[in-house]
Amino acid sequence: MHQLRDHLAQVRRDATTDALTNLGNRKAFDTELRRAHEAAERSGEVLALAVVDIDHFKRFNDTWGHQTGDQVLRYVASVLARVGAPPRFAARYGGEEFALIFPGETAESVHTLLSDTLKEIASRALRRRSTNEELGAITVSAGVAELKNRETAHTLLERADAALYASKHAGRNRVTNAETHAGVAAA
Ligand code: GH3
Ligand code: MG
Ligand code: MG
Repeated sequence: MHQLRDHLAQVRRDATTDALTNLGNRKAFDTELRRAHEAAERSGEVLALAVVDIDHFKRFNDTWGHQTGDQVLRYVASVLARVGAPPRFAARYGGEEFALIFPGETAESVHTLLSDTLKEIASRALRRRSTNEELGAITVSAGVAELKNRETAHTLLERADAALYASKHAGRNRVTNAETHAGVAAA
């Protein structure tokens, strides 16, 4: 019986965990966002959401190879796992994109936090594990949105995504708040 229970727990973990990075996967993120959204609606507390995407990662893979790319993904994931520790939630949303949930936190405070995180990532001198070559700076871009009154989780995510897009457009390696780039956020 215990073996079956342990086995089922393992199956459930596997279904919600990204194997490369050990972060929650997209399925886990969707579940967690729905939960956090409901809780925020019920309590009236603030809720912020961030999406983070590695800059020029295709180029990186082309230069260094997929395996070294995977090493970078795991590195970025490890930083975000620390930043997104409970009660926050961090997931690999797909490819080289991550998403974080910040219950009870404003977009403004998340902006400050992620700015520091971006600096940390950009200043880390990564080396290729197989050859010890210096890989140069890895940068990521982020978009942040704070839940509005009566807003759906879907729209919140869309606004965070639009803010990420604005960060990419403005030159990457930066955080943009949905609220401060009205043009895209209002679309
Ligand atoms: P941008 O700064 O605009 O985000 O440019 P980008 O090159 O990062 O974005 P693009 O969407 O063009 O490319 C994403 C790349 O991420 C392409 C794909 O090969 C790489 N990628 C996605 N998943 C993985 C993975 O699991 N491992 C590795 N090594 N690369 C991955
Ligand atoms: Mg990218
Ligand atoms: Mg991407």
